Amino acid sequence: MFEKVAVIGFGLIGSSFAQALKRSGKVREVVAADKSEEVCRQVQENKLADNATTNLRDAVLDADIVVLAVPVGAMGHVMKGIAPYLKEGAIVTDTGSVKASVIEAVSPHLPEHASFVAAHPIAGTEHSGPLAGFPELFEHRWVILTPMPETPLRDVEKITTLWEATGANIEIMSPEHHDLILGITSHLPHLIAYTIVGTATNLEDDIQSEVIKYSASGFRDFTRIAASDPTMWRDVFLNNKAAVLEILQRFTEDLTALQRAIRYADGDYLYQTFDRTRGIRRAIIEAGQADYPDAPDPKTASPASE
Ligand code: NAP
Repeated sequence: MFEKVAVIGFGLIGSSFAQALKRSGKVREVVAADKSEEVCRQVQENKLADNATTNLRDAVLDADIVVLAVPVGAMGHVMKGIAPYLKEGAIVTDTGSVKASVIEAVSPHLPEHASFVAAHPIAGTEHSGPLAGFPELFEHRWVILTPMPETPLRDVEKITTLWEATGANIEIMSPEHHDLILGITSHLPHLIAYTIVGTATNLEDDIQSEVIKYSASGFRDFTRIAASDPTMWRDVFLNNKAAVLEILQRFTEDLTALQRAIRYADGDYLYQTFDRTRGIRRAIIEAGQADYPDAPDPKTASPASE
């Protein structure tokens, strides 16, 4: 049983994490902290946590565990602000989508009496804000921990226990390996979606209306990904530069190969490429990592019942 967990940054991820912890019964008190008063009001009104405050100092005082769920670019700044108020033995963890740069930003501010266990839940939707959160978000999803060599094992085990309480599965790897893998599975797909939807946005008005009308032919799926939070994704690309540029180079080569196959009518190459990729979709479904059919849309979400 954990006594007090403070979640700083109460958007999709922070809200989902807090709700999942409350539901698990493994934490006595979950406190939400966010710089926005409106967010804190929504947390109180919908009982998404036991308490909510815009004062980060109040939130972290006495907390056994502090979870940084703010955009990647804000992690260092937030850590610096809370460092003097962390209690003896406190464990700080995060949810950032990039790991090496977050560790680099957070570590210099970490007091000696606290430790940091970097983490990234591989779960999410295109929505943001506290009302987008739901307690099932992490069920059967992977959470990657990237602890530093000096992180005490017992602290890594505590963070593992906390995430397991949300229904997640845990994997441990190096921050660099994490950033490369996520560069392929998450960052590149978002970049491609932003590009395709951006190209459509630049079309003349008459063509653009037809793009929307006939979007079910493939474009629609890209628009879901391209609706993701711009602040979060700006920070991801600025903080995972090397891995994303490396993956982008490989992608460009593969795209050029497909371009050649189309130009020279190499049907066999096209067929073999498309047939191979179909298998990946089947494998994702079999691994239980397909979509969330019932994820709430914060624009239509109703307040929680009393
Ligand atoms: P979000 O919905 O935009 O929530 C972030 C919250 O943090 C917002 O309420 C934001 O307030 C607040 N915030 C920003 N700077 C702050 C500061 N200095 N002090 C206190 N609060 C601050 O974002 P999210 O999707 O939950 O993502 C949170 C983190 O999890 C990010 O690091 C992201 O990379 C990671 N992550 C996201 C996903 C996903 O699919 N969304 C998946 C896995 C991991 P304002 O809105 O007022 O700025």
